[in-house]
Amino acid sequence: MTRVNLNVPFSEKDEAKQLGARWDPSSKVWFVPEGVNPHLFQRWLPDPPPDVTIRANSYRVAETEDTCWKCGELTRMYSFLLPAGYQTFEQGEDYIDAWYTNEGASMVSYVTDLLPTVVAHIKSITRHYYLDFSKTTNSSYWMNHCEHCGMKQGDFAMHCEPGGAFFPMDEEDVSSIKLQHVNEPFSCNGSTSYDSLISDL
Ligand SMILES: [Zn+2]
Repeated sequence: MTRVNLNVPFSEKDEAKQLGARWDPSSKVWFVPEGVNPHLFQRWLPDPPPDVTIRANSYRVAETEDTCWKCGELTRMYSFLLPAGYQTFEQGEDYIDAWYTNEGASMVSYVTDLLPTVVAHIKSITRHYYLDFSKTTNSSYWMNHCEHCGMKQGDFAMHCEPGGAFFPMDEEDVSSIKLQHVNEPFSCNGSTSYDSLISDL
């Protein structure tokens, strides 16, 4: 059984303690000990998990060129850059289930459940970025495809390998990524990453 962590503000900690909540000093979180009814702590229970775990008030469409691994031609690749202040929903033993605000910007990869307005926007820019099945992840996600031969261009090489199209190694790599600001909300499921070069964008 997963432990029930509580979202107790500092000013209400004595009250929570009196009702029987315990403090976990290593995770710095109040929790409901086994055998105690969690409903006593209703007001501090965490939010239920949302449908999507990544969100932002605005985003940028990132565009760069890279070589298609299949045909060797240069093709445009797209991704999304979320500004500092974007939020991720975290859950598990070490967290209070909640939205956390991130201080740096981040690319997103392995994107699913993209907000329909974002889908409409990216489709107005390219017809080569669409939901497709990956044998590597054994799942579908929003993926780039070569403009010349149509081959899938998976996120691993682009986002997870140093020097990949969206994993810049120096300022020159960074400057080759064109950014188009979109002042509309963004949400999806997927992965974010910490990269000091991207973080300041
Ligand atoms: Zn190609």
